[in-house]
Amino acid sequence: MITFALPKGRIFDEIMPLLDAAGIRVSEDPEKTRKLIIGTSRPDVRLVIVRASDVPTYVQHGGADLGVVGKDTLLEHGGDGLYEPLDLNIAKCRMSVAVRRDFDYADAVKQGSRIRVATKYIRTARDHFADKGVHVDLIKLYGSMELAPLTGLADAIVDLVSTGNTLKANDLVAVEEIMPITARLVVNPGALKLKRAAMQPLIDALGHATQAGVC
Ligand code: AMP
Repeated sequence: MITFALPKGRIFDEIMPLLDAAGIRVSEDPEKTRKLIIGTSRPDVRLVIVRASDVPTYVQHGGADLGVVGKDTLLEHGGDGLYEPLDLNIAKCRMSVAVRRDFDYADAVKQGSRIRVATKYIRTARDHFADKGVHVDLIKLYGSMELAPLTGLADAIVDLVSTGNTLKANDLVAVEEIMPITARLVVNPGALKLKRAAMQPLIDALGHATQAGVC
């Protein structure tokens, strides 16, 4: 049995055409069932539906053989004990720094002021501002980062930006792009060794579907 860890939402929706191209059809919609283990058209492949931030942990510790996770989440996890064989080129967005429209970020950086930054992505933010030599106080949040500059909790946020509509709706502007983000295939190396005959063709098929631009 091959166990594939997937989060619900955008990654799930965007991986479906790739799985389809790899000959795997999903038997149930995770948005419509309370089941956490979902069968597929292949009796030897099942999906486990987990939180995005739990995907690397499931794969690292063998609760799943492989999984799909955003590079954002993978960087925070650290990627220890995981192979990352494929950039699936789905769930594309940018990790960005954003501030209130009336906050002069460039000036604050130039003055060497301490900038209060709210984010879910502490590790990525710490590395980014350290590289730039910008002094920051990081504030960990678990959601709705956009609210932090509006309430005075922080001067800036580090968050994912896709269309930019959320920033715009909250009178925020992106002032720096930290990196482009896409979803990655992650694999448990031990599982790959043990089940290579079944897993490698699946990884190759996903790779071909990605290159063919199925999504
Ligand atoms: P948007 O309004 O399209 O720029 O999307 C921004 C909101 O969606 C923010 O709250 C982000 O945290 C979230 N978001 C954007 N892209 C992604 C992604 N690829 N994965 C997870 N969350 C995302």
